[in-house]
Amino acid sequence: MAFVNEHYLKLSAGYLFPEIARRVSAFAAEKPQFASEIIRCGIGDVTEALPPSAVRAMQTANAELATRSTFRGYGPGMGYESVRGAIAHGDFRERGIDVADDEIFLSDGSKGDCGAILEILGAGNRIAVTDPVYPVYVDSNVMVGNTGTALAGGGYEGITYLPCTESNGFLADVPSELRGEGVAAPDVIYLCSPNNPTGTVMDRARAQAWVAYARKHRAIILWDAAYEAYNRDANAPKSIYEIEGARECAVEFRSFSKSGGFTGVRCGYTVMPKSLMAYTRAGEAVALHGLWTRRWNTRSNGVSYAVQRGAEALYTDEGRKEVQALVDFYMENARILRDGCIALGLQTWGGQNAPYVWAKTPEGHDSWGFFEHLLRNARVVTTPGAGFGRCGEGYFRISAFNSRANVEEVVRRLAATR
Ligand code: PLP
Repeated sequence: MAFVNEHYLKLSAGYLFPEIARRVSAFAAEKPQFASEIIRCGIGDVTEALPPSAVRAMQTANAELATRSTFRGYGPGMGYESVRGAIAHGDFRERGIDVADDEIFLSDGSKGDCGAILEILGAGNRIAVTDPVYPVYVDSNVMVGNTGTALAGGGYEGITYLPCTESNGFLADVPSELRGEGVAAPDVIYLCSPNNPTGTVMDRARAQAWVAYARKHRAIILWDAAYEAYNRDANAPKSIYEIEGARECAVEFRSFSKSGGFTGVRCGYTVMPKSLMAYTRAGEAVALHGLWTRRWNTRSNGVSYAVQRGAEALYTDEGRKEVQALVDFYMENARILRDGCIALGLQTWGGQNAPYVWAKTPEGHDSWGFFEHLLRNARVVTTPGAGFGRCGEGYFRISAFNSRANVEEVVRRLAATR
């Protein structure tokens, strides 16, 4: 008899985005005359074409594979040296951050990395996530058994939720020592900046407090910087390794999805510092770098050759300019959406250092109610804040990943439905 991983059975009803898709399809089936008018600002998927440098590099790579003398088979599990070098240099050393080439591990995107990392961390770690949160962190932990059962009203038993509300500017507070009395300190903390869903960025002082907390408790920060390219705030670290001591307590996740438009191409990476330790039950320190290397060598033969070449091309002079233009384009969309919401009198966060605008639902509407209202009356798909956690109730997220024409139309329709 084959046994099932029963942790999967704890997962509460549909992942947020399938649920949104289900509701949009139901509306389109009910009112087919409006189906073609629906504008999707719900899921954070890019809409614009890939940077030409990446396209050319991938075409060249594919052509190499078509010729015996330049053909390549299996590559290194963690990525080709030249790509790892371009990343370590371009994203870190050039900015004065100490990261070695072999501390970069290429992957098919950071969604998988957020869960894969749990494989080298022990069972029974106390996990902390923000509320609201990118749901993948939570579900990945449910799947491996780091949580209890789903709680009525949202969330899971056994996870520490760090409330992010208007009162803390939607930024996670370090669990204070007084809260720590009798309450176990989390061992693994997911932090995301620029934040999905709230669009906020963590300031340097707060990041320093988190690093100090992690070092004191020998905890690990999983710093998700998937939206790093959108962070223009000089007071908000683009990498956690800008903070002294972070190499001893943090892993960083990066993605080319939102910088290079790689959501379909699939490529991201983790930074695993050689100085990062976790502990055996007997208290012995073990460097995670060796385990992560082993994990990649055993589990994967890496990212496809052409994709790696495409990612590498984003670090050429031309590639960088193209990435900047792409990011600027979406950031202008974010500005239009943010200004549109503000003009309607909605209280708004984000949209300045992130491609997401987070806004308070008008009085009388809860998150899902306002989602339905906008879908039915404006034919605009947003993301209900409640889908990201209890503290997201009463808010909604609009994604800036869309064409300029659609973004302008969304603002017009929002105004018309007020
Ligand atoms: N992390 C956050 C916070 C995200 O919002 C996303 C994608 O939306 C990811 C990670 C996943 O990115 P990737 O496409 O690299 O898997």
